[in-house]
This record gives sequence, structure tokens and C-alpha cells, in this order.
Amino acid sequence: MGKFSAVIVIMLFAFNSHSAFAQWHQKSFHVMGTLAHVEFWLDDDATKATADKLIVAVEQEMQRIDQTMSPYIATSELSVINRDAATRPVIVSQELFDLLTDAHDIAVLTHGMFDITYASIGYQYNYRKHQKPNQAAIKQALTAINYQTVILDKPSLSVKFTDADVKIDLGGIAKGHAVKNCIAILKKAGIEHALISAGGDTTLLGDRIGRPWFVGIKHPRAEEKTAVQLPLSNESISTSGDYERYFIEDGVRYHHIINPKTGDSARNVVSVSIIGKNPTYVDALSTAIFVMGLQQGMALINELPEYEAIIIDNQQTLHVSTGLQQD
Ligand code: ADP
Ligand code: MG
Repeated sequence: MGKFSAVIVIMLFAFNSHSAFAQWHQKSFHVMGTLAHVEFWLDDDATKATADKLIVAVEQEMQRIDQTMSPYIATSELSVINRDAATRPVIVSQELFDLLTDAHDIAVLTHGMFDITYASIGYQYNYRKHQKPNQAAIKQALTAINYQTVILDKPSLSVKFTDADVKIDLGGIAKGHAVKNCIAILKKAGIEHALISAGGDTTLLGDRIGRPWFVGIKHPRAEEKTAVQLPLSNESISTSGDYERYFIEDGVRYHHIINPKTGDSARNVVSVSIIGKNPTYVDALSTAIFVMGLQQGMALINELPEYEAIIIDNQQTLHVSTGLQQD
């Protein structure tokens, strides 16, 4: 059997051993331009105040990361980098430096298909307003789309651009990072069963008490439908789809995942989900594998024993990596 197939035992009276208070707590809220959700199990001796405090802590952590990493907030560390890094080294927080280092490592791993400098052209797309750059603008920006133009200096925690036109954006990795930090907050508080999601990024801590969590992958062409339901415990899953932010012009779909080599939306597949232990990596890898497409993307995932993939191609056929295939 594949490593994620689970025998589901439904334990009807599993909750009998808990006190009257022990229960699931949950909340959904808007942050980082998307819908986030937190859900966790609190045991016997906890109070409602404990639950409320944890929910606030998770919400505040996501807001804090947004304030640090949003390109739309002029005072964010990210905005300061984009404003100044071409003219002077910009000193950043350890947290942002470490995330930029992860982004760099994933760019190397994916042969530049994950590349935060995609933003050098990315900021000229506005999906809500149906705006896209013309060919001349794309051509001019292409030289600035290269992760090697971002110089990270570890001793000084500084960031420098070697090209004046470079812009960076962490939209393909920041939500995974946020989910990772929030799970750490719950874990530190002694929580053993939790789900945290931000948009298409979900991490499961433990199981749902005696049974797995079920995480759905959206049907890419029918909003209300689910393409697959996966039983998961102690895993992270990230889905990248061409249906989240897009517009269609002359029959062509322009959406928010950009091929760094062309400056145009990637159109090899319609949905990519990556499963693994590291929330930050699965987030960035889902974006990268989306750009790579089925053959190249699946080949890379099959080389990485810690990650599995579910890819839906343009014919809406579902493909899974070798670790998910039944023997
Ligand atoms: P979502 O943001 O809907 O969860 P993804 O995780 O796939 O979806 O991330 C898409 C986001 O990643 C885009 O909105 C953009 O901010 C960023 N992005 C787009 N193309 C690339 C790329 N080639 N490399 C890195 N980041 C990218
Ligand atoms: Mg992603």
C-alpha cells in the first residue's frame, strides 16, 4: 500500500475519556489576502480563556508576518528591500534572512523555476483589473528575473540586488512559513492535534484523534467540487492552482503563477499539490512544480524521498508520485 493510504477506524465512543470541557476549537479569518483557518483539540484541564488566547496568538502571528513580508505595505521589510537593495545592502531580520535563504535554496533545487525575482515582471500583472504587461515590458524585465541577482550576506544579515530592475515577492513561500510558525506556537502550548491553513497551504499536527485529517484538493474547474480527499496526519500539503487569481483574454488564461523564463503565466498543468513535512518547502515546491509541468515536475519530486505530488494536467487527468502509488 502507498504510504498515505490509511485504514480508517471510526471510534464512536472515542471521546468518553475526556472531561466535559475537552473539545475542538476553531476559527477562520482573513489575512495575507486569503482565508486562514485554525482548529485544535484542547484537553481536560484547559479553559476557554486558553483556547481564545491561542487563537489570538495564531491570528497575530499571521498578521505580523504579513506586516513584515507584504509587498503592498510600504513599511514592510520586503518593501524596503525592493526600494533600496539595488543601491545599498539592506539589513533585515534573522527571520526574513532565513526565509530568503530557503527561497534561494529552492530556486537552486528547482533550476530557477521557483524564483522570487519573478516579481520584476509579476508586479505588472493585475488579475482583478485584467491587466498584463506587453511583450516589450516582459522582454525588458526578463534579465532582472534571476535569483542570482539577490545577494545574501550571512554575517551582516543583509540583502543586495546586483541589477537595478530587480523586485522580489514572497507570495509563493510566505504562507507556508506563516503556517509553520503558527503550528510551532500551538505545539509549544502543548497542543497535539491541530490543523492550520492559509489559502492553499495546510499543516496537520497529529491526527484527528484516532482518525486522520481529511484534506481536500479543489476541483480546478468546478469551484464547489473537490477533486480528491486525502487522509493525512503530521504532514503539510500545499496546492497551487491556476484558478485562484486569473482572468481570461482571447481564450488565454492569465494567472498568478509565472514562468521565470518567459514572464508569462505557466500553462503546462492546472493544479499541483505537494505533500511533505516542511510547510515552507511544500509551499514553494507546489509553485515550482506547477511551472515545471508534469514530466519535469514529477521527475524532480520522484527524486526527493521526503516529498510527494498530485498533479492535475490540462486534460484534468490526475497523476501521483511513486510514493503515493499502490503496490
Ligand atoms: P497561492 O498564493 O494561491 O497559495 P502559490 O503557493 O502557488 O499560490 O503561490 C503563487 C504565488 O507565488 C503568486 O501569487 C506569486 O506571488 C508567487 N509566484 C508566482 N510565480 C512564481 C515563481 N515562478 N517563483 C516564485 N514565486 C512565484
Ligand atoms: Mg506555493
